[in-house]
Amino acid sequence: MSAFDLSPTSLAFLFGCILVGGLMLQGGLTLFHSLRGAVHAGQAQARELERLELEIQSARLRLQSVEQERAGWNGVRKFAVTKKIPECADTFSFHLTPHDSRPIPGFKPGQYLTFQLLLPGQAKPIVRCYSLSDCARPSHYRVTIKRCPPPPKTDHPPGKGSSFFCDAVKEGDILDVKAPAGHFFLDLNKEKPVVLISGGVGITPMIAMAHALIEAKANREVWFFFGSRGSEDHMLRAETLALVEKYPNLKLHICYSRPGKNDVAGRDYQHEGRVTVELMKSLLPSQNYDFFLCGPGSFMESITDDLRAWGVPDASVHFEAFGPASVKKAAKPEMKAALTTTPFAGGARITFAKSNQSAQWSPEHATLLDVADACGVRIEAGCRAGNCGACLVAIKSGEVEYINEHGADVESGSCLACICKPKGTLVLDA
Ligand SMILES: Cc1cc2nc3c(=O)[nH]c(=O)nc-3n(C[C@H](O)[C@H](O)[C@H](O)COP(=O)(O)OP(=O)(O)OC[C@H]3O[C@@H](n4cnc5c(N)ncnc54)[C@H](O)[C@@H]3O)c2cc1C
Repeated sequence: MSAFDLSPTSLAFLFGCILVGGLMLQGGLTLFHSLRGAVHAGQAQARELERLELEIQSARLRLQSVEQERAGWNGVRKFAVTKKIPECADTFSFHLTPHDSRPIPGFKPGQYLTFQLLLPGQAKPIVRCYSLSDCARPSHYRVTIKRCPPPPKTDHPPGKGSSFFCDAVKEGDILDVKAPAGHFFLDLNKEKPVVLISGGVGITPMIAMAHALIEAKANREVWFFFGSRGSEDHMLRAETLALVEKYPNLKLHICYSRPGKNDVAGRDYQHEGRVTVELMKSLLPSQNYDFFLCGPGSFMESITDDLRAWGVPDASVHFEAFGPASVKKAAKPEMKAALTTTPFAGGARITFAKSNQSAQWSPEHATLLDVADACGVRIEAGCRAGNCGACLVAIKSGEVEYINEHGADVESGSCLACICKPKGTLVLDA
């Protein structure tokens, strides 16, 4: 039987089927197109949402920095110690709340506070800098301070400022504090992946950076290498371990050089030994990172040298030196560059009038403070970066040149010895 043999009823039925099928196909296609359109619209909306989130985030950061400037202060401001928390051996964290109850400025993660401490029995306050060890919070600042031990095999007393914090400062005390400052900080507006490297007390600015990334809901790749002897002197340990849960893009590597008997490999630490560039080479996919370093002088010296040897440009290596010993040993590329590019006053003689000392200027003394140290002349120093103002010294005659930008105010006729070199023969009131 051919189609032509079908009865009119069958033909009508077949025609009806074709019509219904066609209509269904048409309907299906329309549905498919509208679904596809909806998916595309959904994707576009998601992209738009992401873009808006990024805009809000960057507006929040801009607002934060405007607020920071608005709420900043000049000179010292009174802060009450509202919490003193023991962290590990000879180490305490301090929460500092403004005594005037006015807002406090935010800060960039990595910056520090400068304290003017009037120690018992002293006529003049000493100046000490301590990194902010948390990200910016509206209510308080936090610093974490470790007692500075005497140099090995000496019977010198431990550090004055740090011992004062550990032994004497208590909750309720009021301290004189200068506003957050410092050029060593993590730029939260950047996307470049970072490597945070710290040894011992050098963890303080790094943990602030990690907290700031978490607060900013950043998606940046972060490697965090931390070294100490063992868990007993791993300050802020629980907080360090908790970072990985809060920030999935953070890879934490804890190195213990002498793990304690209760320290379990894999659970408490990942590597036995020190933090080294060799370890980084074995883990990082490339050297295309911004490296942030803070730790003891010898640690920083070896890491900066090895990073350079690995081909990491100096511009990608950022470091903070804690205290005089570290500064002398650490390479300070920007200072060295300044010394080699600017003709220095060869043969200039520097005289420290009060101490009756005099020395011939030489380029290996990067700054006037270095010359003073070499001559045994005591010039008070805090940050050694031109910010805290502790090394301000009067110039009796001669001129100086700044080799770094300064944050502290400089009265005319004086200079910041930590970031100056002589322009010629110079007499200082020190
Ligand atoms: C930017 C910056 C941030 C910092 N952040 C932190 C931080 O977050 N946490 C922290 O704990 N520290 C930090 N520091 C270090 C801190 O500022 C101090 O340098 C540190 O606490 C030591 O100061 P001190 O007054 O205790 O020691 P000082 O009294 O200055 O003594 C220093 C050393 O000299 C020894 N000494 C004492 N008498 C003599 C003598 N007669 N001859 C030779 N040696 C002697 C002491 O035993 C000690 O080892 C930071 C430093 C800087 C610059």
